[in-house]
Amino acid sequence: MIGQLGQVELARCLLCGRGGGHRSVLGGLLWRCESCAFSWTAAGSPPPEELYDESYFRGEGYEDYFLMGPRRFESGRRLRWLLSVARPSSLVEAGSAGGFFVEAARRAGIAAQGVEVSESAARFAVERLGVPVRVGCFEEVAPVRSVEAVCAFHVLEHVEEPREFLRAARDALVPGGWLALEVPNIGSAAARRLGDAWPHLQPRYHRWHFTPESLTRLVTDSGFEIVRQDTVFSRFYWQRWGRLANARVLLVADWVASGSPRVSHPRLGDAIRLVARYDEAGAVA
Ligand SMILES: [Zn+2]
Repeated sequence: MIGQLGQVELARCLLCGRGGGHRSVLGGLLWRCESCAFSWTAAGSPPPEELYDESYFRGEGYEDYFLMGPRRFESGRRLRWLLSVARPSSLVEAGSAGGFFVEAARRAGIAAQGVEVSESAARFAVERLGVPVRVGCFEEVAPVRSVEAVCAFHVLEHVEEPREFLRAARDALVPGGWLALEVPNIGSAAARRLGDAWPHLQPRYHRWHFTPESLTRLVTDSGFEIVRQDTVFSRFYWQRWGRLANARVLLVADWVASGSPRVSHPRLGDAIRLVARYDEAGAVA
């Protein structure tokens, strides 16, 4: 199945189901549905065990997932966002990479565990950070009806089938449980300005390209109710601005686009973050 999806997806839009009427965009890198504007990468992908080897986490995928300082800073910000909306006592993070968010959550008293497809990343989390991480594909090894929150930061754009992933997330939750997602925003000011040079496009790794509208539709279609959603600019997660040569340029450009120096925006930031809730009683099957 993996590797053939590019072709399969040309026939039917994952989001609205429309067959045909898809437009080739960004020089043929993506297809965009003319009906609902959802986008996906035109080329197929190699299997995840080939794609997410150590080189991906060591920088080839665009940043180093094992840098202690920046990763702890980023994880702390994500945890504060989650805790500003929900108070879970347990959680599982799908795609836990080096394990820093699991570590942050455990330090906050949450019974947190990770699931990670990369064996080397999981080993780092277990051996260096001492946190529990299971190696495997989340859709296959997710816990069943036992956690109060499922978190997945920059994961949904990588998975083979987002609806299957969200079904597994729903099945992992106790009734009333929370889903916390973050994905790149192809509708962001920077994505529109930079086109195929937008650093979060990553067509080799990202199969699906979300906007706030398409992510909302997918999540609510899967039986969740959106509790909070906004976007953040890349700079929200930068720990040390001085090291980033283009920080000033990006800040000014985002400021011009959004009319504000704030780090968050309802639609124009580089990453969409969302917290949703699954209530079995009112859920869609
Ligand atoms: Zn569509």
